[in-house]
Amino acid sequence: MFNELGLSPKVLSAVEAAGYTKPTPIQAAAIPHALEKRDVLGLAQTGTGKTASFVLPMLSLLEKGRARARMPRTLILEPTRELAAQVVESFEKYGVNHKLTVALLIGGVSFEEQNRKIDRGADVVIATPGRLLDHLERGKLLLQQVEILVVDEADRMLDMGFIPDIERVCKILPAKRQTLFFSATMPKEIANLVDRFLNDPIRVEVSPTSSAAETVTQRFVRSGSTPKDKRDTLRRLIRGEKELANGIIFCNRKRDIGTLFRSLERHGFSVGALHGDMDQRTRMLTLEAFKQEKITLLVASDVAARGLDIPKVSHVFNYDVPHNAEDYVHRIGRTGRAGRSGSAFTISTPEDKKLVAAIESMLKRSVDWFEDDAPAKAAPTPAPAAAAADETPRPSRGRRRGERRAEQAAAAPAPETTAAPASAPASAPAPAPRAEAPARSDGEATRSERGSRRSKGRRGEGREPEENRVVFRDTPYVPAFLLRPLTPRKVTPARKSTTEQVG
Ligand code: AMP
Repeated sequence: MFNELGLSPKVLSAVEAAGYTKPTPIQAAAIPHALEKRDVLGLAQTGTGKTASFVLPMLSLLEKGRARARMPRTLILEPTRELAAQVVESFEKYGVNHKLTVALLIGGVSFEEQNRKIDRGADVVIATPGRLLDHLERGKLLLQQVEILVVDEADRMLDMGFIPDIERVCKILPAKRQTLFFSATMPKEIANLVDRFLNDPIRVEVSPTSSAAETVTQRFVRSGSTPKDKRDTLRRLIRGEKELANGIIFCNRKRDIGTLFRSLERHGFSVGALHGDMDQRTRMLTLEAFKQEKITLLVASDVAARGLDIPKVSHVFNYDVPHNAEDYVHRIGRTGRAGRSGSAFTISTPEDKKLVAAIESMLKRSVDWFEDDAPAKAAPTPAPAAAAADETPRPSRGRRRGERRAEQAAAAPAPETTAAPASAPASAPAPAPRAEAPARSDGEATRSERGSRRSKGRRGEGREPEENRVVFRDTPYVPAFLLRPLTPRKVTPARKSTTEQVG
Protein backbone atom coordinates (compact mmCIF):
# COMPACT_ATOMS: atom_id res chain seq x y z
CA MET A 1 0.00 0.00 0.00
CA PHE A 2 1.15 3.52 -0.70
CA ASN A 3 0.69 4.61 2.90
CA GLU A 4 3.36 2.15 4.00
CA LEU A 5 6.11 3.79 1.95
CA GLY A 6 6.66 6.88 4.10
CA LEU A 7 5.22 9.43 1.66
CA SER A 8 3.75 12.65 3.04
CA PRO A 9 -0.04 13.06 3.47
CA LYS A 10 -0.15 15.62 0.65
CA VAL A 11 1.49 13.19 -1.74
CA LEU A 12 -0.70 10.31 -0.60
CA SER A 13 -3.82 12.31 -1.22
CA ALA A 14 -2.62 13.18 -4.77
CA VAL A 15 -1.85 9.52 -5.43
CA GLU A 16 -5.33 8.60 -4.28
CA ALA A 17 -6.80 11.29 -6.53
CA ALA A 18 -4.82 9.79 -9.42
CA GLY A 19 -6.68 6.55 -8.79
CA TYR A 20 -3.68 4.44 -7.89
CA THR A 21 -4.43 1.83 -5.29
CA LYS A 22 -1.19 -0.09 -5.17
CA PRO A 23 2.43 0.89 -5.79
CA THR A 24 4.11 -0.79 -8.75
CA PRO A 25 7.12 -2.98 -7.90
CA ILE A 26 9.63 -0.25 -8.71
CA GLN A 27 7.68 2.24 -6.61
CA ALA A 28 7.44 -0.13 -3.66
CA ALA A 29 11.16 -0.87 -3.84
CA ALA A 30 12.57 2.58 -4.61
CA ILE A 31 10.40 5.08 -2.73
CA PRO A 32 11.37 4.17 0.87
CA HIS A 33 15.09 4.42 0.02
CA ALA A 34 14.63 7.64 -1.91
CA LEU A 35 12.84 9.09 1.12
CA GLU A 36 15.82 8.13 3.27
CA LYS A 37 17.95 10.20 0.90
CA ARG A 38 19.83 7.18 -0.37
CA ASP A 39 21.08 7.05 -3.94
CA VAL A 40 18.97 4.73 -6.04
CA LEU A 41 19.89 2.86 -9.19
CA GLY A 42 16.61 1.85 -10.83
CA LEU A 43 16.75 -0.68 -13.63
CA ALA A 44 13.37 -0.25 -15.17
CA GLN A 45 11.74 0.54 -18.45
CA THR A 46 8.98 3.02 -19.05
CA GLY A 47 5.61 1.51 -18.32
CA THR A 48 6.73 0.22 -14.93
CA GLY A 49 5.65 3.34 -13.05
CA LYS A 50 9.24 4.55 -12.67
CA THR A 51 8.36 8.23 -13.09
CA ALA A 52 6.24 8.23 -9.95
CA SER A 53 8.99 6.27 -8.20
CA PHE A 54 11.13 9.42 -8.26
CA VAL A 55 8.50 12.17 -8.45
CA LEU A 56 6.57 11.06 -5.35
CA PRO A 57 9.54 10.97 -2.94
CA MET A 58 10.87 14.20 -4.44
CA LEU A 59 7.58 15.92 -3.69
CA SER A 60 7.71 14.68 -0.11
CA LEU A 61 11.31 15.78 0.35
CA LEU A 62 10.69 19.17 -1.21
CA GLU A 63 8.04 20.04 1.34
CA LYS A 64 10.82 21.37 3.56
CA GLY A 65 12.61 24.48 2.34
CA ARG A 66 12.29 26.94 -0.51
CA ALA A 67 14.07 27.59 -3.78
CA ARG A 68 16.23 30.64 -4.28
CA ALA A 69 16.45 32.64 -7.49
CA ARG A 70 18.44 30.81 -10.15
CA MET A 71 19.24 28.03 -7.74
CA PRO A 72 16.98 25.05 -8.25
CA ARG A 73 16.70 22.47 -5.50
CA THR A 74 16.28 19.48 -7.72
CA LEU A 75 17.30 18.65 -11.26
CA ILE A 76 15.84 16.00 -13.55
CA LEU A 77 17.63 15.16 -16.79
CA GLU A 78 15.63 13.61 -19.60
CA PRO A 79 16.91 12.59 -23.03
CA THR A 80 14.06 14.06 -25.07
CA ARG A 81 11.71 16.97 -24.87
CA GLU A 82 8.67 14.75 -24.83
CA LEU A 83 9.91 12.81 -21.86
CA ALA A 84 10.77 16.04 -20.09
CA ALA A 85 7.27 17.35 -20.79
CA GLN A 86 5.78 14.11 -19.48
CA VAL A 87 7.65 14.50 -16.22
CA VAL A 88 6.27 18.01 -15.87
CA GLU A 89 2.80 16.50 -16.25
CA SER A 90 3.63 14.03 -13.49
CA PHE A 91 4.64 16.88 -11.18
CA GLU A 92 1.36 18.59 -11.98
CA LYS A 93 -0.61 15.44 -11.30
CA TYR A 94 1.13 14.27 -8.13
CA GLY A 95 1.95 17.79 -6.94
CA VAL A 96 -1.62 19.17 -6.93
CA ASN A 97 -1.37 19.75 -3.20
CA HIS A 98 2.03 21.44 -3.38
CA LYS A 99 2.93 24.92 -4.46
CA LEU A 100 6.13 24.11 -6.26
CA THR A 101 7.70 25.94 -9.16
CA VAL A 102 8.68 23.59 -11.94
CA ALA A 103 10.84 24.85 -14.81
CA LEU A 104 11.02 22.94 -18.07
CA LEU A 105 14.27 23.65 -19.90
CA ILE A 106 14.16 22.12 -23.35
CA GLY A 107 15.42 23.13 -26.76
CA GLY A 108 13.20 24.35 -29.56
CA VAL A 109 11.53 27.05 -27.51
CA SER A 110 12.68 30.50 -26.46
CA PHE A 111 14.96 31.10 -23.51
CA GLU A 112 12.91 34.01 -22.18
CA GLU A 113 10.12 32.13 -20.49
CA GLN A 114 12.59 29.60 -19.12
CA ASN A 115 14.74 32.40 -17.70
CA ARG A 116 11.72 33.94 -16.01
CA LYS A 117 10.92 30.65 -14.30
CA ILE A 118 14.51 30.17 -13.15
CA ASP A 119 14.71 33.75 -11.88
CA ARG A 120 11.63 33.27 -9.77
CA GLY A 121 13.31 30.34 -8.05
CA ALA A 122 12.50 26.85 -9.31
CA ASP A 123 12.08 23.96 -6.91
CA VAL A 124 12.36 21.52 -9.77
CA VAL A 125 14.21 21.90 -13.05
CA ILE A 126 13.40 19.32 -15.70
CA ALA A 127 15.80 19.59 -18.60
CA THR A 128 17.34 18.02 -21.65
CA PRO A 129 21.14 18.12 -21.32
CA GLY A 130 21.93 20.51 -24.17
CA ARG A 131 19.53 23.22 -23.09
CA LEU A 132 20.61 22.86 -19.49
CA LEU A 133 24.24 23.44 -20.45
CA ASP A 134 23.22 26.45 -22.51
CA HIS A 135 21.59 28.00 -19.48
CA LEU A 136 24.65 27.21 -17.39
CA GLU A 137 26.99 28.71 -19.98
CA ARG A 138 24.90 31.87 -20.05
CA GLY A 139 25.28 32.11 -16.31
CA LYS A 140 21.53 32.04 -15.84
CA LEU A 141 21.44 28.97 -13.74
CA LEU A 142 23.44 27.87 -10.71
CA LEU A 143 23.48 24.29 -9.54
CA GLN A 144 25.08 24.76 -6.12
CA GLN A 145 21.83 24.24 -4.25
CA VAL A 146 20.72 21.07 -6.02
CA GLU A 147 19.81 18.49 -3.40
CA ILE A 148 18.49 15.77 -5.70
CA LEU A 149 19.62 14.81 -9.19
CA VAL A 150 17.53 12.46 -11.30
CA VAL A 151 19.02 10.95 -14.43
CA ASP A 152 16.21 9.27 -16.32
CA GLU A 153 16.53 6.86 -19.26
CA ALA A 154 20.31 6.85 -18.98
CA ASP A 155 20.72 4.24 -21.71
CA ARG A 156 18.76 6.46 -24.02
CA MET A 157 21.11 9.30 -23.10
CA LEU A 158 23.96 7.05 -24.13
CA ASP A 159 22.35 6.35 -27.48
CA MET A 160 22.00 10.05 -28.07
CA GLY A 161 25.57 10.86 -27.09
CA PHE A 162 24.69 12.76 -23.93
CA ILE A 163 27.00 10.95 -21.55
CA PRO A 164 29.74 13.62 -21.70
CA ASP A 165 27.09 16.24 -20.94
CA ILE A 166 25.82 14.27 -17.97
CA GLU A 167 29.37 13.96 -16.68
CA ARG A 168 29.83 17.70 -16.96
CA VAL A 169 26.65 18.35 -15.03
CA CYS A 170 27.53 15.81 -12.34
CA LYS A 171 30.87 17.53 -11.81
CA ILE A 172 29.21 20.92 -11.35
CA LEU A 173 26.66 19.64 -8.85
CA PRO A 174 27.44 19.62 -5.13
CA ALA A 175 29.15 16.40 -4.11
CA LYS A 176 26.73 16.09 -1.22
CA ARG A 177 23.53 15.38 -3.06
CA GLN A 178 21.18 12.52 -3.66
CA THR A 179 21.15 10.84 -7.07
CA LEU A 180 18.27 8.79 -8.45
CA PHE A 181 19.41 7.10 -11.60
CA PHE A 182 17.23 5.12 -14.03
CA SER A 183 18.12 3.00 -16.99
CA ALA A 184 16.42 0.11 -18.74
CA THR A 185 19.76 -1.54 -19.50
CA MET A 186 23.22 -1.37 -18.00
CA PRO A 187 25.85 -1.20 -20.73
CA LYS A 188 29.37 -0.60 -19.52
CA GLU A 189 29.33 3.15 -20.23
CA ILE A 190 26.33 3.48 -17.91
CA ALA A 191 27.89 1.21 -15.29
CA ASN A 192 30.99 3.48 -15.33
CA LEU A 193 28.84 6.53 -14.83
CA VAL A 194 27.07 4.88 -11.92
CA ASP A 195 30.39 3.92 -10.33
CA ARG A 196 31.71 7.45 -10.59
CA PHE A 197 28.70 9.51 -9.64
CA LEU A 198 26.48 7.48 -7.36
CA ASN A 199 27.22 6.97 -3.73
CA ASP A 200 26.58 3.44 -2.50
CA PRO A 201 23.32 3.18 -4.39
CA ILE A 202 20.46 0.83 -3.63
CA ARG A 203 19.91 -1.20 -6.77
CA VAL A 204 16.30 -1.79 -7.67
CA GLU A 205 15.56 -3.92 -10.68
CA VAL A 206 12.25 -4.72 -12.28
CA SER A 207 11.83 -7.04 -15.24
CA PRO A 208 15.03 -7.15 -17.28
CA THR A 209 14.89 -5.57 -20.71
CA SER A 210 15.16 -8.80 -22.56
CA SER A 211 11.87 -10.00 -21.15
CA ALA A 212 9.15 -8.65 -23.35
CA ALA A 213 5.92 -7.76 -21.59
CA GLU A 214 3.96 -10.90 -20.85
CA THR A 215 0.74 -9.12 -21.63
CA VAL A 216 1.73 -8.65 -25.27
CA THR A 217 0.85 -11.29 -27.86
CA GLN A 218 3.73 -11.27 -30.30
CA ARG A 219 3.49 -12.57 -33.83
CA PHE A 220 5.78 -12.42 -36.83
CA VAL A 221 4.34 -12.19 -40.31
CA ARG A 222 6.04 -13.27 -43.51
CA SER A 223 5.96 -10.77 -46.33
CA GLY A 224 7.46 -10.16 -49.73
CA SER A 225 10.43 -7.82 -49.78
CA THR A 226 9.27 -4.84 -51.80
CA PRO A 227 7.79 -1.80 -50.08
CA LYS A 228 4.52 -2.50 -51.85
CA ASP A 229 4.48 -6.08 -50.52
CA LYS A 230 5.10 -4.80 -47.04
CA ARG A 231 2.43 -2.14 -47.24
CA ASP A 232 -0.06 -4.75 -48.53
CA THR A 233 0.84 -7.02 -45.64
CA LEU A 234 0.46 -4.22 -43.14
CA ARG A 235 -2.96 -3.19 -44.43
CA ARG A 236 -4.12 -6.78 -44.37
CA LEU A 237 -3.01 -7.11 -40.77
CA ILE A 238 -4.65 -3.90 -39.66
CA ARG A 239 -7.91 -4.78 -41.34
CA GLY A 240 -7.86 -8.27 -39.94
CA GLU A 241 -7.52 -7.11 -36.35
CA LYS A 242 -11.02 -6.70 -35.08
CA GLU A 243 -9.84 -5.74 -31.62
CA LEU A 244 -7.64 -2.94 -32.86
CA ALA A 245 -8.42 0.27 -31.02
CA ASN A 246 -5.25 2.06 -32.03
CA GLY A 247 -1.74 1.20 -33.05
CA ILE A 248 1.79 2.42 -33.51
CA ILE A 249 3.58 1.38 -36.68
CA PHE A 250 7.36 1.43 -36.41
CA CYS A 251 9.66 1.99 -39.35
CA ASN A 252 13.43 1.72 -39.23
CA ARG A 253 13.98 4.67 -41.52
CA LYS A 254 12.45 8.10 -41.52
CA ARG A 255 12.27 7.95 -45.30
CA ASP A 256 9.73 5.17 -45.04
CA ILE A 257 7.61 6.95 -42.47
CA GLY A 258 6.51 9.60 -44.94
CA THR A 259 5.77 7.11 -47.67
CA LEU A 260 3.87 4.77 -45.43
CA PHE A 261 1.95 7.60 -43.81
CA ARG A 262 0.76 8.89 -47.19
CA SER A 263 -0.08 5.42 -48.39
CA LEU A 264 -2.18 4.58 -45.34
CA GLU A 265 -3.93 7.89 -45.48
CA ARG A 266 -4.83 7.40 -49.10
CA HIS A 267 -6.13 3.98 -48.27
CA GLY A 268 -8.60 5.57 -45.92
CA PHE A 269 -6.95 5.00 -42.57
CA SER A 270 -6.94 7.51 -39.77
CA VAL A 271 -3.22 8.05 -39.40
CA GLY A 272 -0.52 10.44 -38.18
CA ALA A 273 3.27 10.41 -38.36
CA LEU A 274 5.89 11.02 -35.70
CA HIS A 275 9.62 11.22 -36.10
CA GLY A 276 12.53 13.07 -34.62
CA ASP A 277 12.92 15.71 -37.28
CA MET A 278 9.39 17.02 -37.21
CA ASP A 279 8.99 20.39 -35.57
CA GLN A 280 8.03 20.31 -31.96
CA ARG A 281 4.56 21.76 -32.35
CA THR A 282 3.49 19.22 -34.95
CA ARG A 283 4.92 16.40 -32.85
CA MET A 284 2.98 17.51 -29.81
CA LEU A 285 -0.24 17.96 -31.79
CA THR A 286 0.15 14.56 -33.40
CA LEU A 287 0.84 12.88 -30.11
CA GLU A 288 -2.06 14.60 -28.45
CA ALA A 289 -4.39 13.60 -31.31
CA PHE A 290 -3.26 10.01 -30.92
CA LYS A 291 -3.66 10.03 -27.16
CA GLN A 292 -7.13 11.51 -27.48
CA GLU A 293 -8.05 8.88 -30.04
CA LYS A 294 -8.60 11.38 -32.81
CA ILE A 295 -6.25 9.32 -34.93
CA THR A 296 -6.08 5.56 -34.85
CA LEU A 297 -2.65 4.82 -36.25
CA LEU A 298 0.69 6.46 -35.72
CA VAL A 299 3.61 5.76 -38.04
CA ALA A 300 6.71 6.41 -35.99
CA SER A 301 10.44 6.01 -35.63
CA ASP A 302 12.09 4.48 -32.58
CA VAL A 303 13.51 7.81 -31.63
CA ALA A 304 10.15 9.52 -31.61
CA ALA A 305 8.20 6.84 -29.86
CA ARG A 306 10.57 5.35 -27.35
CA GLY A 307 9.76 6.14 -23.79
CA LEU A 308 6.53 7.89 -24.58
CA ASP A 309 3.80 7.16 -22.13
CA ILE A 310 0.67 6.45 -24.10
CA PRO A 311 -1.18 4.16 -21.74
CA LYS A 312 -3.73 2.60 -24.07
CA VAL A 313 -2.16 1.30 -27.23
CA SER A 314 -3.83 -1.90 -28.40
CA HIS A 315 -1.41 -2.77 -31.22
CA VAL A 316 2.15 -2.34 -32.33
CA PHE A 317 3.13 -3.12 -35.91
CA ASN A 318 6.76 -3.39 -36.85
CA TYR A 319 6.73 -2.44 -40.49
CA ASP A 320 10.43 -3.33 -40.38
CA VAL A 321 12.18 -5.78 -38.11
CA PRO A 322 14.28 -3.50 -35.90
CA HIS A 323 18.03 -3.54 -36.45
CA ASN A 324 18.65 -3.88 -32.79
CA ALA A 325 16.97 -6.64 -30.82
CA GLU A 326 16.61 -4.40 -27.77
CA ASP A 327 14.58 -1.96 -29.81
CA TYR A 328 12.15 -4.79 -30.46
CA VAL A 329 11.39 -4.97 -26.76
CA HIS A 330 11.03 -1.22 -26.50
CA ARG A 331 8.72 -1.11 -29.49
CA ILE A 332 6.37 -3.84 -28.38
CA GLY A 333 6.48 -2.31 -24.90
CA ARG A 334 4.34 0.54 -26.26
CA THR A 335 1.41 -1.83 -25.96
CA GLY A 336 0.43 -4.08 -23.08
CA ARG A 337 1.22 -1.30 -20.62
CA ALA A 338 0.20 -1.29 -16.97
CA GLY A 339 -1.16 -4.82 -17.12
CA ARG A 340 -3.33 -4.32 -20.19
CA SER A 341 -3.20 -6.81 -23.01
CA GLY A 342 -1.76 -5.88 -26.36
CA SER A 343 -0.81 -7.32 -29.73
CA ALA A 344 2.40 -6.89 -31.66
CA PHE A 345 2.98 -7.89 -35.27
CA THR A 346 6.37 -7.83 -36.93
CA ILE A 347 6.52 -7.91 -40.70
CA SER A 348 9.47 -9.96 -41.80
CA THR A 349 10.92 -10.44 -45.27
CA PRO A 350 13.34 -13.19 -46.33
CA GLU A 351 16.17 -10.65 -45.93
CA ASP A 352 15.31 -10.17 -42.26
CA LYS A 353 16.32 -13.68 -41.21
CA LYS A 354 19.34 -12.57 -39.21
CA LEU A 355 17.45 -9.82 -37.41
CA VAL A 356 14.71 -12.26 -36.44
CA ALA A 357 17.34 -14.70 -35.21
CA ALA A 358 18.83 -11.95 -33.05
CA ILE A 359 15.43 -11.29 -31.50
CA GLU A 360 14.92 -15.00 -30.88
CA SER A 361 18.27 -15.24 -29.21
CA MET A 362 17.47 -12.27 -26.99
CA LEU A 363 14.02 -13.63 -26.10
CA LYS A 364 15.57 -17.08 -25.63
CA ARG A 365 12.81 -18.68 -27.64
CA SER A 366 11.51 -18.94 -31.18
CA VAL A 367 9.07 -16.33 -32.35
CA ASP A 368 5.52 -17.28 -33.30
CA TRP A 369 4.62 -16.98 -36.95
CA PHE A 370 1.26 -15.64 -37.89
CA GLU A 371 -0.31 -17.73 -40.60
CA ASP A 372 -3.17 -15.75 -42.00
CA ASP A 373 -4.98 -16.89 -45.05
CA ALA A 374 -3.69 -13.94 -46.99
CA PRO A 375 -5.26 -11.24 -48.98
CA ALA A 376 -8.40 -9.28 -48.82
CA LYS A 377 -10.30 -9.47 -45.65
CA ALA A 378 -13.09 -7.04 -45.02
CA ALA A 379 -11.66 -3.60 -45.37
CA PRO A 380 -12.52 0.04 -45.71
CA THR A 381 -12.86 0.98 -49.32
CA PRO A 382 -9.57 2.30 -50.53
CA ALA A 383 -9.56 5.92 -51.43
CA PRO A 384 -9.24 6.44 -55.18
CA ALA A 385 -5.72 7.73 -54.96
CA ALA A 386 -4.61 4.73 -52.98
CA ALA A 387 -3.04 2.65 -55.67
CA ALA A 388 -1.15 5.55 -57.09
CA ALA A 389 -0.03 6.56 -53.63
CA ASP A 390 1.46 3.17 -53.14
CA GLU A 391 3.60 3.33 -56.17
CA THR A 392 4.88 6.84 -56.01
CA PRO A 393 7.13 7.35 -53.10
CA ARG A 394 8.80 10.69 -53.50
CA PRO A 395 12.54 10.86 -53.58
CA SER A 396 14.00 12.22 -50.42
CA ARG A 397 16.19 15.23 -50.45
CA GLY A 398 19.54 15.29 -48.77
CA ARG A 399 19.92 17.24 -45.59
CA ARG A 400 23.22 18.68 -44.66
CA ARG A 401 24.71 17.84 -41.34
CA GLY A 402 25.04 21.56 -40.77
CA GLU A 403 21.30 21.88 -40.88
CA ARG A 404 21.04 19.96 -37.65
CA ARG A 405 21.13 23.07 -35.63
CA ALA A 406 18.35 22.75 -33.21
CA GLU A 407 19.92 25.05 -30.71
CA GLN A 408 20.21 27.90 -33.17
CA ALA A 409 16.60 27.36 -34.06
CA ALA A 410 15.83 27.22 -30.39
CA ALA A 411 17.54 30.52 -29.73
CA ALA A 412 14.93 32.33 -31.77
CA PRO A 413 11.63 32.86 -30.02
CA ALA A 414 9.61 29.69 -30.52
CA PRO A 415 10.45 29.26 -34.18
CA GLU A 416 8.45 26.14 -34.56
CA THR A 417 5.25 27.91 -33.77
CA THR A 418 5.79 30.56 -36.36
CA ALA A 419 6.90 28.40 -39.22
CA ALA A 420 4.00 26.06 -39.57
CA PRO A 421 2.24 26.60 -42.88
CA ALA A 422 -0.68 24.27 -42.37
CA SER A 423 -1.46 24.41 -46.00
CA ALA A 424 -0.32 21.19 -47.58
CA PRO A 425 -2.81 18.37 -47.58
CA ALA A 426 -1.28 14.94 -47.56
CA SER A 427 -2.15 14.34 -51.16
CA ALA A 428 -0.64 17.59 -52.41
CA PRO A 429 2.42 17.15 -54.60
CA ALA A 430 4.90 18.44 -52.07
CA PRO A 431 4.80 20.30 -48.83
CA ALA A 432 6.28 23.73 -48.64
CA PRO A 433 9.84 23.50 -47.45
CA ARG A 434 10.46 25.03 -44.08
CA ALA A 435 12.35 28.22 -43.82
CA GLU A 436 13.92 27.17 -40.58
CA ALA A 437 15.82 23.99 -39.86
CA PRO A 438 13.52 22.05 -37.65
CA ALA A 439 14.46 21.11 -34.15
CA ARG A 440 15.24 17.50 -33.48
CA SER A 441 13.36 15.45 -31.00
CA ASP A 442 15.76 16.10 -28.24
CA GLY A 443 16.61 19.62 -29.19
CA GLU A 444 20.24 18.96 -28.49
CA ALA A 445 21.78 18.42 -31.87
CA THR A 446 24.67 20.78 -31.50
CA ARG A 447 25.87 18.89 -28.50
CA SER A 448 26.19 15.77 -30.53
CA GLU A 449 28.36 17.50 -33.01
CA ARG A 450 30.61 18.85 -30.33
CA GLY A 451 30.85 15.63 -28.49
CA SER A 452 30.78 11.98 -28.94
CA ARG A 453 27.26 11.41 -30.06
CA ARG A 454 28.18 9.97 -33.37
CA SER A 455 30.97 7.87 -32.11
CA LYS A 456 29.18 6.67 -29.04
CA GLY A 457 25.63 6.37 -30.34
CA ARG A 458 24.75 2.74 -30.64
CA ARG A 459 21.30 2.94 -32.04
CA GLY A 460 18.45 5.32 -32.62
CA GLU A 461 19.44 8.40 -34.59
CA GLY A 462 23.03 7.32 -34.78
CA ARG A 463 22.09 4.21 -36.63
CA GLU A 464 20.13 5.87 -39.37
CA PRO A 465 22.26 6.62 -42.38
CA GLU A 466 22.77 10.31 -42.86
CA GLU A 467 20.74 10.42 -46.04
CA ASN A 468 17.76 9.12 -44.17
CA ARG A 469 17.64 12.01 -41.82
CA VAL A 470 15.79 14.13 -44.20
CA VAL A 471 12.60 12.84 -45.12
CA PHE A 472 10.36 14.89 -43.03
CA ARG A 473 10.80 17.54 -45.64
CA ASP A 474 9.02 15.24 -48.00
CA THR A 475 6.46 14.08 -45.55
CA PRO A 476 3.40 16.18 -45.08
CA TYR A 477 4.66 18.79 -42.81
CA VAL A 478 1.42 19.19 -41.04
CA PRO A 479 -0.33 15.84 -41.10
CA ALA A 480 -3.50 16.01 -43.09
CA PHE A 481 -5.59 14.80 -40.20
CA LEU A 482 -4.85 18.09 -38.51
CA LEU A 483 -6.44 19.88 -41.43
CA ARG A 484 -9.63 17.89 -41.31
CA PRO A 485 -12.65 18.31 -39.06
CA LEU A 486 -12.14 16.21 -35.99
CA THR A 487 -14.22 13.18 -36.89
CA PRO A 488 -11.84 10.29 -37.19
CA ARG A 489 -12.37 7.55 -39.66
CA LYS A 490 -12.04 4.52 -37.52
CA VAL A 491 -10.99 1.35 -39.14
CA THR A 492 -12.12 -0.77 -36.27
CA PRO A 493 -15.02 -1.36 -34.00
CA ALA A 494 -15.16 0.51 -30.74
CA ARG A 495 -12.52 -0.21 -28.15
CA LYS A 496 -13.23 -2.90 -25.64
CA SER A 497 -12.94 -1.65 -22.15
CA THR A 498 -9.89 -2.90 -20.34
CA THR A 499 -9.02 -2.94 -16.73
CA GLU A 500 -5.78 -1.57 -15.40
CA GLN A 501 -3.66 -3.56 -13.09
CA VAL A 502 -0.17 -2.97 -11.96
CA GLY A 503 2.07 -4.84 -9.66
P1 AMP B 1 5.97 5.24 -16.31
O1 AMP B 1 6.67 3.93 -16.23
O2 AMP B 1 6.43 6.20 -15.29
O3 AMP B 1 6.03 5.78 -17.71
O4 AMP B 1 4.41 4.99 -15.97
C1 AMP B 1 3.58 4.20 -16.77
C2 AMP B 1 2.11 4.43 -16.51
O5 AMP B 1 1.71 3.82 -15.29
C3 AMP B 1 1.71 5.89 -16.41
O6 AMP B 1 0.58 6.08 -17.24
C4 AMP B 1 1.33 6.09 -14.97
O7 AMP B 1 0.28 7.03 -14.84
C5 AMP B 1 0.87 4.70 -14.55
N1 AMP B 1 1.13 4.42 -13.13
C6 AMP B 1 2.20 4.78 -12.41
N2 AMP B 1 2.10 4.32 -11.16
C7 AMP B 1 0.94 3.63 -11.07
C8 AMP B 1 0.29 2.90 -10.02
N3 AMP B 1 0.82 2.79 -8.82
N4 AMP B 1 -0.89 2.33 -10.31
C9 AMP B 1 -1.43 2.43 -11.54
N5 AMP B 1 -0.85 3.09 -12.57
C10 AMP B 1 0.31 3.69 -12.35
